[in-house]
Amino acid sequence: MTAEQVRRAVEAVTDPELRRPIGELDMVREVTVRGSTAHVAIVLTIVGCPAANRIESDVRSAAASVPGVDDVDVSVGVMTPDERKALTEKLRAGRPARQMPFGPDSLTRVILVSSGKGGVGKSTLTANLAVALAERGLAVGLVDADVHGFSIPGLLGIPAGTQPTRIDDLMLPPVAHGVKTISIGMFLRDGESVVAWRGPMLHRTVQQFLTDVFFGDLDVLLIDMPPGTGDIAISIGQILPHAEVLVVTTPQTAASDVAIRSGLVARQTGQRVIGVVENMAAFALPDGTVIDLFGSGGGAEVAKALSTPAEPIALLASIPLSPALREGGDAGMPVVLEDPSDAAAAAIDALAQRVVTKGRGLAGRSLPFAPA
Ligand code: ADP
Repeated sequence: MTAEQVRRAVEAVTDPELRRPIGELDMVREVTVRGSTAHVAIVLTIVGCPAANRIESDVRSAAASVPGVDDVDVSVGVMTPDERKALTEKLRAGRPARQMPFGPDSLTRVILVSSGKGGVGKSTLTANLAVALAERGLAVGLVDADVHGFSIPGLLGIPAGTQPTRIDDLMLPPVAHGVKTISIGMFLRDGESVVAWRGPMLHRTVQQFLTDVFFGDLDVLLIDMPPGTGDIAISIGQILPHAEVLVVTTPQTAASDVAIRSGLVARQTGQRVIGVVENMAAFALPDGTVIDLFGSGGGAEVAKALSTPAEPIALLASIPLSPALREGGDAGMPVVLEDPSDAAAAAIDALAQRVVTKGRGLAGRSLPFAPA
């Protein structure tokens, strides 16, 4: 057994937050071997880095897995400011700091999940959709911009009070069930409420955290929007005019007017409605009795009203009422993972597939090719 073998094993350990091998992140400082004992020195980004224990134990097992190693001694240090600076530069991959990475040239699909009113299950759906997309191997980010509740962290089991990890001016989102997750609620000072923020302040804040949070290269960024057509919807519409929009409604036809309006407002800012999702639809009891608490037809009605001759809008999914979906939300364990056979989970998974295959039209977009 050689130090080189141990180094190779250790360098392959991934940093759970940065999602890259620690070798690539220059975190392995020294590897030596004496007899059958491997000594490994690693450096982390900051003191008390939340991922420290995990990295240390992964490094220990990686070193121990090398044949001939009986004992592993791991020492954990902290990067110098210069090392940290080199790391943040490497992570930005040449992108200048303070530039919003989700502009029209980005290859990330930005999908806003909107509804006309609250309580239709928009956040529950968004959390599960994000996890279902991540399960398909996509790099997924999720922004909780629903200032009326900030329920996304809870739905994904992120403990209350969790903050993004800061490496100097880079903020790393917590990762839950494979989804990089940020809530505007994580940026509030004690006792502060976003609802009290007004137009320009709100706009600046949204712009700032879309800029300063380091999501890395994402395939999809989902944004859980506040219900309705208020300041945040308009700000996000201005900051992300190329975003796609999923409109969520219940099957109740009386609820469809507000859902239609949220779709129309999104379209006015230039965003593209890609489909309608109906939630809390009828479900069948084991004896075959069908319970349709909220009636039926609302989703189809919204899709029809948002359709134009040039672009028909589809009802992409109808998600039944499901105790397992609600319980999974309460427990922070999304039903798409916990009980994929549940009818709501299966419907959300099918929705994820449709969203992936729908793709984003390339028409009218300038591709980020530099001339050779
Ligand atoms: P919104 O984000 O639209 O305000 P939430 O996602 O917070 O709505 O959902 C409101 C409540 O409804 C939550 O308790 C959630 O667990 C429950 N819920 C959402 N969708 C369903 C469903 N399909 N079946 C059963 N309960 C649901």
